[in-house]
Amino acid sequence: MRGTLGLPQDGARRVCVSWQERFADAPDVLVSADRRQTVVPVLDLRIGAGECITMAGPCSVETEFQLIATALHVRRAGARILRGGAFKPRSSPYAFQGLGLEGLKLLARAREESGLAVVTEVMSVSDVPLVAEYADILQIGARSMENYSLLEAAARSGKPILLKRGLVATIEDLLRSAQLVLDCGNPNVILCERGIRTFETALRNTFDAAGIALLKQITHLPVIADPSHAAGRRDLVPALARIAVAAGADGLLVEVHPSPDEAWSDGEQSLDFAGFEAMMTALNPWIELRSQELEQREESIEAVGVLG
Ligand code: PEP
Ligand code: MN
Repeated sequence: MRGTLGLPQDGARRVCVSWQERFADAPDVLVSADRRQTVVPVLDLRIGAGECITMAGPCSVETEFQLIATALHVRRAGARILRGGAFKPRSSPYAFQGLGLEGLKLLARAREESGLAVVTEVMSVSDVPLVAEYADILQIGARSMENYSLLEAAARSGKPILLKRGLVATIEDLLRSAQLVLDCGNPNVILCERGIRTFETALRNTFDAAGIALLKQITHLPVIADPSHAAGRRDLVPALARIAVAAGADGLLVEVHPSPDEAWSDGEQSLDFAGFEAMMTALNPWIELRSQELEQREESIEAVGVLG
């Protein structure tokens, strides 16, 4: 079966029209005839250009050995971007808050050693210039998604923004925050589904795979998925990664640690090196299917005429 967009064609048209009505005042985040797909340049990478790009690394930067060993390993296994938190938003104020500037310096060293680009979180307006000096992508964490002054400052740094969906944010809320970054003159926004809070308590969060598929229909911004925070358990990370790729995600953000049980944060959801490598290998056929699906989707968009 070819070119269905996963919906009857008329349904797809109605979905796009209803979002155009909702965002009539500020439609820049929505797909349109002259804005089909944003491609975010990061060093020599192009996020959103078709390739599924994996960002991987520890939840928190801990030590030079931990970070460099992880960077070299994830690169060998196919990751293109190194993640690692130097400023950490934690559920408890008594938990490890990150190494701060020392963590940023270690990230810069890991970039030099591995050639990987670096994504790291910025938590406060006053830290933006410092974090922007070291990072290739600024991550806005789930707990900061609606911090508009932080979004503005991060946007004005000119660095690409990885915008994580808030714990209780709707798709519309996420797009409103993205719109603010665009309004500040920064077109380089990557959206990230990382699980949301629902009545379900069996897992850390509820992974909104349908949200990824929907975002791929209605916005031109690249969409990635974080299966680690969504699941909260490392054994489920590969399955959620497959689901994200099948839903059309432009990339993944995955927590990896040399010895997850000793991690200073989020060890229970971090893959070890062997687990990450196995996940990446097992993803290959799904990535291939995704490429075919994307081509068909392009044809379908033409056929449906959703863009007017
Ligand atoms: C993280 O990426 O380590 C993180 C804290 O994520 P989130 O903001 O999605 O909870
Ligand atoms: Mn984490």
